[in-house]
Amino acid sequence: MFLKLNGLDRDNLQIGREQLISVKEAQQKLLSVFHPLESESIPLSEAAGRILSEDVKSAIDLPLFTNSSMDGFAVRSSDVNNASRRHPVALSVVEDIPAGKTPSVRLAKNQTARIMTGAPVPDGADAVIPVEDTDQYDPQSRSSFDLPSEIRVFRTVRAGDYIRHQGEDVRKNEVVLHANSPLKPQELGILAMLGKANVSVFRPPKIAILSTGDELVPVEEPLESGQIHDSNAYTLSALIKRDHGNPEYLGIIPDNEDSVRKFLETAVANSADLIITSAGVSVGVFDYVRTVVESGGELTFWRVNMRPGKPVVFGNFQGVPIIGLPGNPVSAFVGYEVFVRPAILRLSGITGVPRYTIKARLIDGIESDGRESYLRGILKYEDDEWAARLTGHQGSGNLLSLVQANALLIIPPGVKSLAAGSEVDAWLLD
Ligand code: AMP
Ligand code: MG
Repeated sequence: MFLKLNGLDRDNLQIGREQLISVKEAQQKLLSVFHPLESESIPLSEAAGRILSEDVKSAIDLPLFTNSSMDGFAVRSSDVNNASRRHPVALSVVEDIPAGKTPSVRLAKNQTARIMTGAPVPDGADAVIPVEDTDQYDPQSRSSFDLPSEIRVFRTVRAGDYIRHQGEDVRKNEVVLHANSPLKPQELGILAMLGKANVSVFRPPKIAILSTGDELVPVEEPLESGQIHDSNAYTLSALIKRDHGNPEYLGIIPDNEDSVRKFLETAVANSADLIITSAGVSVGVFDYVRTVVESGGELTFWRVNMRPGKPVVFGNFQGVPIIGLPGNPVSAFVGYEVFVRPAILRLSGITGVPRYTIKARLIDGIESDGRESYLRGILKYEDDEWAARLTGHQGSGNLLSLVQANALLIIPPGVKSLAAGSEVDAWLLD
């Protein structure tokens, strides 16, 4: 007991209260060192999910040429002003225009051209009559392949009907895509329509992942007494991929100063843009990450007023930014969401991606300890609002309670208890 108190006192003396910084301040310090990486040009076929590094302007109109939106007959609308099923109007067919062909004839009075969807509308025509509204339509089979010399039209049309006008979708010189967000499938489609075979995107950040701890064993190996499998590496790797980074797992670091230094040097040699470690950052006798960062680079902060995950190291090692997350799997996860995600988004060039934060009503009261807390919760939509309760045991080593959660409930700093019915902010996890 005495030893423990003694340890705590020593701790306070060494650290000084000012070094326990708020989540907000820590995020600001951290974000100020990250900037988007350089851009590169890549083939469109590889661009899904990559982050555009410049706005894309269209060099052409879309559609590029005025074309038919139906299979039918191009007409002059004035020729069919009085057409109906009882009094069809006869037109003579002067041309066949399948998609991909350029019309060669200008329609004169009472002339028509057979036209397919997507084919250019011939000069003289101002509308299209769908084949269903002519005597050329046979519902039992496809329309006749042979071009008729004359057709009968059963309806009127207004000028412009069934025509897609040049530029009605996109105008030449219009900005169609904005930089700084991940390319979606439909955006690849429009880039192809614009003839962009290559696109300019940000280089994705290379994120080195290191797990520290003598007790850790790779998932492929059996456990001996006192050992556990390294789980953080898998969670962190997947989170990094989700956030458009390229994770590179460098392995498990034994708990000694030399090994920690050696592995960090490997990460630097592999040109990591950011190093993420887990564990070895608290005040245990074998927690070397902070010491090594301090001696081989610069320590910006190492304690944040949050729960779980108070010990979070941030600084650089030989100039490469490093975030040392706590070892407990839930703390590592929360530390990632609070600190690593914003850093990776910044490096990736992604801006304006909101956190999906919603307001939720607590079903039961919650006790907190005054630190900014990120608690595992389950949200359910009932009676027109989100109702929140905590998942089971909130110990930061209990991963199942995170697996069962669909949100992190955020208790602001300074708040020690919240009554049932209070409103909290929640981050949706899925
Ligand atoms: P430490 O920060 O090194 O004191 O670790 C805190 C707790 O997290 C300990 O119970 C560790 O065994 C555990 N832990 C550390 N690293 C990992 C990891 N990569 N996967 C799962 N648990 C870990
Ligand atoms: Mg450890």
